[in-house]
Amino acid sequence: MYLDFITAKNAYLAASHRAFACGLAAASGGNISVRLPGTDLMIVKPSGITLGQAAEENLIITDLYGNLVEGSIKPTKETILHGGLYRRFEQIGGIVHVHPVYSIMCANRFDEMPLVTKQMKQIMDVPVPVCKIKNNTVDEQGMRMIYDMLAKKPGVCCFLLEEHGVVSFAKSVADAENNAELVEENARVFWETQGV
Ligand SMILES: [Zn+2]
Repeated sequence: MYLDFITAKNAYLAASHRAFACGLAAASGGNISVRLPGTDLMIVKPSGITLGQAAEENLIITDLYGNLVEGSIKPTKETILHGGLYRRFEQIGGIVHVHPVYSIMCANRFDEMPLVTKQMKQIMDVPVPVCKIKNNTVDEQGMRMIYDMLAKKPGVCCFLLEEHGVVSFAKSVADAENNAELVEENARVFWETQGV
């Protein structure tokens, strides 16, 4: 259990710092989580810090409903999104939620984003769905919309949130982060090609 925690924590920090270095989220936006293997717990970012500031001393552990288990800082408001995905899909081990600009522009303009790069076509074979949730953060009602959308699109490993960003999930947080980068690359190519 302890070794699993160390491994999960290190994977968390690597993905968080990489996403920040890639410019996938401005200010304290975006959040990343890692499921602690064999438990109903996840490592999440506290509210109010950047992905680049994630560090061993400020990470927190919550249950899959966002209740604080370890740490003293308030968890991110997006624990409903993260916990909801882990509860519904056992195979998910890591989630990356970020706010990259081209992905948001595509989410605002379209109902789904076509795949226009070979890189994206290697990880998915259907367009990236867009979920149009009105609230600033994903609440329980928003989560039901996401469940409905994913039920209609089996096999997707990411989706867009209108006026908000990208949600990418995978067996490992490293893969989820990698895929979030590919989503933003695809979004940029699609947007520029459209000339919109
Ligand atoms: Zn967000």
